[in-house]
Amino acid sequence: MSNLQRTREELANKNIKAFLVNDIESVCWLTGFTGSAGIVLLTPNGGRFITDSRYTIQAKEQVSGLDVVTFDTTSDRLGFISGNAREMGIETLSFDGTKMTYAMVDNLAKKLDGIHFASVDDPIAGLRMIKSPEEIDKIRAACKLADACLEHVVRLIQPGVSEYSINLEVEFFYRRHGAALAFEPIVVSGPNSARPHGKATEKLLENGDFVTIDCGAELDGYCSDITRTFVVGKASDRHREVYEQVLKAEKAAIDAARPGITGKELDAVARDLLGTAGLAEYFGHGLGHGLGRLVHDGGALNPSSQTVLAPGQVWTIEPGAYIEGFGGVRIEDDVVITSSGCEVLTFFPKELLELPG
Ligand code: ZN
Ligand code: ZN
Repeated sequence: MSNLQRTREELANKNIKAFLVNDIESVCWLTGFTGSAGIVLLTPNGGRFITDSRYTIQAKEQVSGLDVVTFDTTSDRLGFISGNAREMGIETLSFDGTKMTYAMVDNLAKKLDGIHFASVDDPIAGLRMIKSPEEIDKIRAACKLADACLEHVVRLIQPGVSEYSINLEVEFFYRRHGAALAFEPIVVSGPNSARPHGKATEKLLENGDFVTIDCGAELDGYCSDITRTFVVGKASDRHREVYEQVLKAEKAAIDAARPGITGKELDAVARDLLGTAGLAEYFGHGLGHGLGRLVHDGGALNPSSQTVLAPGQVWTIEPGAYIEGFGGVRIEDDVVITSSGCEVLTFFPKELLELPG
């Protein structure tokens, strides 16, 4: 069933008579349109794709199953949208309040004059979490490229190389292979590696540093996200101890990932193990997040997540331990939930590497 059909069924099930899709990623997911501006007015039996004149030709080529209407960029966009809603006979237009600015809601409500305008929970979010086999193949390809990227940049790791130059090489690698960065890579070393979302700096790698590289590709509209931590030179006992505990937690979480478990329960698998090792206080973020068209694609695995894992969902599993003044470790893989467990999509080795090795 197409994404459009799935969404129409969802609208009917939730008794939503008309829904304004204005999140561009959801618009792309729904229609196949790859431009940067467009909205859909969707009803259980019909709908219009609305974009501006920059995309008239592209929209006709890419969008099927919906009437395509375009307006001139110099004209009144919200007026055009409300005019279309009226022509479609919409009486109540629902929208996802988390995807609209206050100004847009306020202005559109005025233009809709006579049409009821209501905020609802996004009916598309849950659907987008369950990836089709085609989407999973695209994520798999992005993961393969992320593995290859790490294989490539690992060769650069040695004392005297800056975090920034590794960061740059990650970007070159993805661009050379027809991909984009799924997000700004994280390359942090030594004490900087205790910053989970630190940025690459001019700092040079030194013997005895942990180096964490967190990077992902965006390929054909889908993202990957992988993290590995290495040691420059010889690993100390402390390096090994922290690394092995994070690795143990990561593997245990992957083993436990299966349909029916909640995000909170899966997070606890890793968090409890790190707690037993005396490292819980150093694990300050959630275990993982949904992955897809966006690197944070909806859904989270953390101590408050009620999300129930289901086949077709794609998650990152990324426990870490970050010790101020010493350094940090994070190990992150991407998995797709299957009927009985999960399939790991990233393959770069996970045993502690001392580099150059
Ligand atoms: Zn990551
Ligand atoms: Zn991640």
